[in-house]
Amino acid sequence: MSGPKPLPPIDDDTRAWWEGLHRGVLLLQHCRGCGHVQVHQRAMCGRCLGGDLEHCPASGEGTIYSFSTVYRPPSAEFKDDVPYTVVLVELAEGPRMLSTLVDAPPETVRIGQPVQIVYDRVTEAVTLPRFRPLASGAAPP
Ligand SMILES: [Zn+2]
Repeated sequence: MSGPKPLPPIDDDTRAWWEGLHRGVLLLQHCRGCGHVQVHQRAMCGRCLGGDLEHCPASGEGTIYSFSTVYRPPSAEFKDDVPYTVVLVELAEGPRMLSTLVDAPPETVRIGQPVQIVYDRVTEAVTLPRFRPLASGAAPP
């Protein structure tokens, strides 16, 4: 048996993000000063260091920029999950975010593949953003 998985900490900088995910909304930070869009929640813009940021809902769609399939669990809690694929998703809004892919056998994963977000409620407080292949109507070869 495996124990509970480690969960991300929630603090003042990230609370809005986690509450958004809980409601099924991916919130990105948009800088009113320079227009930069960032995934990682913080008090200042990663480009211009300005503090005038607002949360805007993202489309939840993107493409796989890079990926790596994990066959050896990083710790005992993940031993029932392998193999799973870690993806770097380039969101439609521009920024890239690290996540995991669901509903996709490792051999079917491709760079450039369109994906859409799914909201995985793992506890009452934490909903993790994951991605699955966007149904395109095209059958895999
Ligand atoms: Zn900025």
